[in-house]
Amino acid sequence: MRLLNPGPVTLSERVRRALLRPDLCHREPEFAELQARLRRGLEQVYGGSDHAAVLLTGSGTAAVEAMLGSLVDRSALVVANGVYGERMAAILDRQGKPCEVVRSAWTEPLDLAAVEARLERQRPGHVVAVHHETTTGRLNDLPGLGALCRRSGVPLLLDAVSSFGGAAIDLEAWNVEACAATANKCLHGVPGISFVLARRPALARRSASPSLYLDLMTHFREQERGSTPFTQAVHACHALDEALAEFAEAGGWRARAALYARRSALVARCGLAPYLPEGSSDILRAYRLPEPYGALHDRLKAAGFVIYAGQGDLQGEMFRVAVMGDLPEEELVRLAGLLRPPEELPRGGRKPAGAPDPR
Ligand SMILES: *Cc1c(COP(=O)(O)O)cnc(C)c1O
Repeated sequence: MRLLNPGPVTLSERVRRALLRPDLCHREPEFAELQARLRRGLEQVYGGSDHAAVLLTGSGTAAVEAMLGSLVDRSALVVANGVYGERMAAILDRQGKPCEVVRSAWTEPLDLAAVEARLERQRPGHVVAVHHETTTGRLNDLPGLGALCRRSGVPLLLDAVSSFGGAAIDLEAWNVEACAATANKCLHGVPGISFVLARRPALARRSASPSLYLDLMTHFREQERGSTPFTQAVHACHALDEALAEFAEAGGWRARAALYARRSALVARCGLAPYLPEGSSDILRAYRLPEPYGALHDRLKAAGFVIYAGQGDLQGEMFRVAVMGDLPEEELVRLAGLLRPPEELPRGGRKPAGAPDPR
């Protein structure tokens, strides 16, 4: 089965085999070594900064929640245009932190003019945003938002869960105090491990975390000493270790971004209308539904592909195709053939799933 949902991804054989490595106690020096290597590997993905990686056992949301809970110590301005921006506002609300939201429609870019006006009026403690809004597959204008943060001196907290390793991230130019991400999206690991990259001085502050388990500072302090406060997902760490080796050998984030661009171009040959008129990423693209979602999903699943529904009200309008993970190009060519709108097929109706491309 080829997974076209935005994580977990289809594993390479190499990463899958890493799950069979010998059992390891998280209190033994072998685990300390593995953990240190993972942290170094993650810190090197975007290179040369004073950001330290903190590993967490949990999905991407755990990393986002730990980042917001531990680092937002005053107030936050959330800039949102989709499910994941709204989720960060909901997390801050649960944590009882003062939070204001600058919203735009889910089909629209971030409202940078409103952010700029807001920052001129009064500075929040942090600006909070999503890099790649997986709701629609929009790569948000972080160079633009980051420049506002840099200019106003307000640190940025970034949900980079579905972009880390697959798109450009400029930690310095965007004034990123911390970003949260996961092993099982663009890095092609297995679910279970997520992480936050945060500036060392920020991690030396007093933690603002209302949660004991998701206190980033506790994890950081222990990991710096070669330890971990709680049990880590050891097998997922082995898989991430292999996934990071594969990632580095293949040429890092630039090579991965180029790979996704080639893959998304192959899928776009299906000719379906893109859901976003502009601003789509190469990591995930949303298309207008040519038929009811359930029918399309089941037909593709029978042919070996799992596509992803729209969220909320978007379920009836669009579906999503993410191109992370182990996906041979010939499979994406086959997918584009299966997705081609019915009116483009020769007389006789829809060709059976998996049949050769009629063109
Ligand atoms: C996948 C994702 C998350 C986290 O989802 P989990 O299911 O908790 O891993 C957060 N933000 C974005 C933008 C995502 O794509």
